[in-house]
Amino acid sequence: MKTPVENIPNIGPIYQKRLKKLKIKTLGDFLYNFPRDYKDFSRVSKIKDIKINEVNSISGTIKSIEEEKRKMSIVRALIEDDTASIEVVWFNQPYLAKSLKIGDKIMLSGKVRINRYSVSMVSPAFEKVSSKENIHTGRIVPIYSETKGITSKWIRYVLKSIIDKIKNKIPETLPEEIIKNYNLLPLPKAIEKIHFPDSNEDIIQAQRRFVFEQLFLISLLNMKKREELRKESAPAIPINLPVIKKFINSLPFELTPAQKKCSWQIIKDMERNFPMNRLLQGDVGSGKTVVSAIAAINTVKAKRQVVLMAPTEILTKQHFKTFFNLLKNFNINIGLLTGKTDLYYSKKLKNDTIEISRKKLLEKTEKGEIDILIGTQALITQTKTKENKVKFNDLGLIIIDEQHRFGVKQRAALSPKNKIAHLLSMTATPIPRTLTLTIWSDLDLSIIDTLPKGRKKVKTEIIDEEKTAYSFIRKEIKKGHQAFVICPRIEAEEDEKIIVKSVIAEYEKLSNVVFPDLKVNMLHGKMTPKEKDKIMRDFKNKKFDILVSTSVVEVGIDIPNATVMMIEGADRFGLAQLHQFRGRVGRGKKQSYCFLLTESKSKTTIERMKAMTKYDSGFKLSEIDLKLRGPGDFMGKRQWGIPDFVMSSLNNLEIIKEARSASEEVFPVTNEKLKRRLEAFEEKLHLE
Ligand code: ADP
Ligand code: MG
Repeated sequence: MKTPVENIPNIGPIYQKRLKKLKIKTLGDFLYNFPRDYKDFSRVSKIKDIKINEVNSISGTIKSIEEEKRKMSIVRALIEDDTASIEVVWFNQPYLAKSLKIGDKIMLSGKVRINRYSVSMVSPAFEKVSSKENIHTGRIVPIYSETKGITSKWIRYVLKSIIDKIKNKIPETLPEEIIKNYNLLPLPKAIEKIHFPDSNEDIIQAQRRFVFEQLFLISLLNMKKREELRKESAPAIPINLPVIKKFINSLPFELTPAQKKCSWQIIKDMERNFPMNRLLQGDVGSGKTVVSAIAAINTVKAKRQVVLMAPTEILTKQHFKTFFNLLKNFNINIGLLTGKTDLYYSKKLKNDTIEISRKKLLEKTEKGEIDILIGTQALITQTKTKENKVKFNDLGLIIIDEQHRFGVKQRAALSPKNKIAHLLSMTATPIPRTLTLTIWSDLDLSIIDTLPKGRKKVKTEIIDEEKTAYSFIRKEIKKGHQAFVICPRIEAEEDEKIIVKSVIAEYEKLSNVVFPDLKVNMLHGKMTPKEKDKIMRDFKNKKFDILVSTSVVEVGIDIPNATVMMIEGADRFGLAQLHQFRGRVGRGKKQSYCFLLTESKSKTTIERMKAMTKYDSGFKLSEIDLKLRGPGDFMGKRQWGIPDFVMSSLNNLEIIKEARSASEEVFPVTNEKLKRRLEAFEEKLHLE
């Protein structure tokens, strides 16, 4: 499997270079370069039974072939079998007239068209019939990602000869009993069938084997990580009930039972002398921040520091404000580390924040005078110069918002000597529990599964006419409220025949034509962080009425005065994403509305959109999306280390459960072969 492509017959230096572009360097890479799609050419018919406007495969003899030169080259051939004959044409492939000869036996797969004069098969795939098995026509044919100079046809040709030669020598990578107990295709078979399936069932079985294997390894790796972390030591944080009670009593609301349960799980974890590694999962608006504040205050009162990291500056500012307001009567110093200018420091016992220089803030952090430091992950972990490096005096707890992975090494770098700080990560990404348990199985899970009482459900409607939404938006703005309009694109571009709505075009239209009397602004990912920040701030401060935006508003910020969320091209987003958009409104006390615009008539799309009107639980919606479309949309692919093919075929929860239980069966791993496989897998994950 490690044989470099240089040593594979049929692959010369030019092809080696081209393959590198596809990241194919070894025999193993070649075999694991799975098709991105398949074409079903398996219906082989006699020429007289050919179906017009459909893909047919035929087999016959070339009776005539010649090239005709007009504006472009057209090669015409007449193909005959024992029932009839048919004309075949190829455009712009003049070499065919030379490589195919009268009398050649040939198999062709392609669409048959009819025009005024004739019936012909247009630009079909073809191959000469020989004693060998056909691989380009007359069967289910694999389609690969291509690059300049490498076609699917070439890949098929080379792969076929490799697989035929070595298929009995490919070593199995999973333990025998797992293959048997979980009814998986053995590796050689799976590799053969994923490339050259004889039926759709073959594809499903082959993919299942590979998906299973990936999930199995991920799960095992997580179990290993979890065990390793348990051997580390962490600063034990005693539970300070009086302070926690005082804090809870100071809140303007009562905690939900789910919030209480999660807070308790967290502080219990932190009492122990090995590092907590916990994920707090809760829908948008479920109140994760207060829960993290409880953990924070308990840590600070045990004389340890806390760091809170979020993905964007806007969010860090929001967190700073929230924490400042929640904790201002608790004699706690909070620092905010931001881009270049705004550095705040909240003074003990004072009702206000002040600016200080970064240098001072870092000094105070190092001396332990800052109890809670808030900033983006980049600022806190990646500061370049030595004097700019964030150093803590005695860090007890790391809180990360909307970022799932935080390595043990990163934790150790911030932590006190020979200890590893506790970690609480928070996410609103509603991933079905089964999936979380496998893919995040190194984390303990706390779920806030209910929203605070009295939240008004966002009224959601599917509409196909913008006018309806526009007049509604106008009414809401008259009441002093604000509205979002989300578009799938930044700039207009032709997308086949459909015009996809873009922020720039919609902004022009809304500000000049539809709402010339109102204030409209726009937001998208091509703006600088500073520009984006300003626009969000202005929107929050009601300086304009309507914000036209791409999905950049998704992670985010509170605009309690916004009551309408209009989503153009709603079918282009995953349900979890739509749910996140919708979560931007309905955060205040006012009744809020969400309009989903779609012109799609596809059954799946309608089903998905309907789910939005029916359910307001992110978990429920993500499960529906998982069933209908696979998980690609709600999981930031990269950070999972899962290849795309797994993502796209991961639409049944059963396999996730099976992979997890299989990994539990073999853990701790004693099988030497599996141990090595796991090590290689880990290495690969880290290198990517
Ligand atoms: P998220 O889980 O999305 O981070 P937040 O922590 O920002 O949610 O909370 C959303 C809003 O709900 C905040 O304004 C917060 O003050 C409020 N909130 C949190 N918990 C409760 C509760 N138990 N009852 C009422 N309001 C609450
Ligand atoms: Mg939040």
